[in-house]
Amino acid sequence: MNSRRGFLQKLVVSAAGIPFLSWDDSSQIINFPEKKYEGPVLKVAIMGLGGYGTMVAEAMKTSTRAKLVGVISGTPSKIKNWQAKYNIPEKNCYNYENFDAIKNNPDIDAVYVITPNGLHKEQTIRVAKAGKHVICEKPMALNAAEAKEMVDACKKANVKLLVGYRMHFEPKTLEIIRQRKEGELGKILFFQGLSGFRIGDPTQWRLNKKLAGGGAMMDIGIYSVNGARYMIGEDPVWVTAQETKTDPVKFKEGVDETIQFQFGFPGGATASCLSTYNMNNLDRFFITGDKGFAELYPATGYGPIKGRTSNGELEYPHVTHQTVQMDEMAGIILEGKQPIVPVDGEEGWKDMKIIDAIYLAAKTGKRVDIKW
Ligand code: NAD
Repeated sequence: MNSRRGFLQKLVVSAAGIPFLSWDDSSQIINFPEKKYEGPVLKVAIMGLGGYGTMVAEAMKTSTRAKLVGVISGTPSKIKNWQAKYNIPEKNCYNYENFDAIKNNPDIDAVYVITPNGLHKEQTIRVAKAGKHVICEKPMALNAAEAKEMVDACKKANVKLLVGYRMHFEPKTLEIIRQRKEGELGKILFFQGLSGFRIGDPTQWRLNKKLAGGGAMMDIGIYSVNGARYMIGEDPVWVTAQETKTDPVKFKEGVDETIQFQFGFPGGATASCLSTYNMNNLDRFFITGDKGFAELYPATGYGPIKGRTSNGELEYPHVTHQTVQMDEMAGIILEGKQPIVPVDGEEGWKDMKIIDAIYLAAKTGKRVDIKW
């Protein structure tokens, strides 16, 4: 075993986001005792108390550096439930009409926007104008123009804008990125990303163009778009795409069911990806270079993520993605920490620019060049 790799395979990120060492041999696990965290804590309000908002709130219970202190919701009964469950004081509860008043609330540092995609732009800009940092869920907007407006508004308001890319903190993903960066995979030649699931209820907002901005590509295909970039370490310069639709009633005009897309990268690598709302068990990344390969399956689900490389199995223990994400994001916002893979507004804007190009390529049948 290459010694650096050996070391890194023992370097484990704890649920508190604080790295500790353990031996490969689990019978002899030697963990350094975790130090009690005494640094700054990011005080967060969640906007949108739905499925994913609940998951983030639960994960934040074990976060060391981020704490849920407030809520923004249009449903008074949900606010009451969350107040009781997470011990949230009345003064930190807002609705969609009055949340600009968060400006005068020193107990909230950041708002995590976890609403349907079509609401992200307006809500992010309002939070920025109220002088609070924003964490916005993916996709950050409906298109690149909206994403740029959000980036500009946050810059102008002098607040940070981060996008909820939880995989950017996932240890097995980061180990593959390390191997690629250190040349262990050689010259990168190809990436394959498969992202999809069979979507149910036809009335949900994810199948409403106005609220979702599209279909599978906005929701799940974005994982392959983003993954191609962090796995290869470059941004694509051309895109081709082909769309297929088996159910035009469920997937109306502008709501994509299945899109296959291909990227070309400046270093000569190519990528071939699939985004779909019509097939299950599609969550796989594969990257190959002239010296080695890496594979993750599942690659982006809530975990455990599983994977191997030509160097062997990836053996990090599972960590709750959202807990580590919130710990790391607190470090980025409060202490200016630099993540290995960026999670800022520009990173989200790049994905939106690529998705715009994918939709254009699928519509026109032509290769679309992307200028950076
Ligand atoms: P959801 O439907 O479960 O929750 C959405 C919430 O927004 C609900 O509480 C709903 O009441 C509220 N809402 C406010 N205004 C609304 C409106 N006009 N129409 C509909 N709902 C409205 O959805 P979700 O799964 O929690 O997704 C929310 C966001 O989180 C999306 O952007 C999604 O892409 C993202 N997400 C990210 C991940 C991830 O792993 N990073 C996972 C799931 C969802």
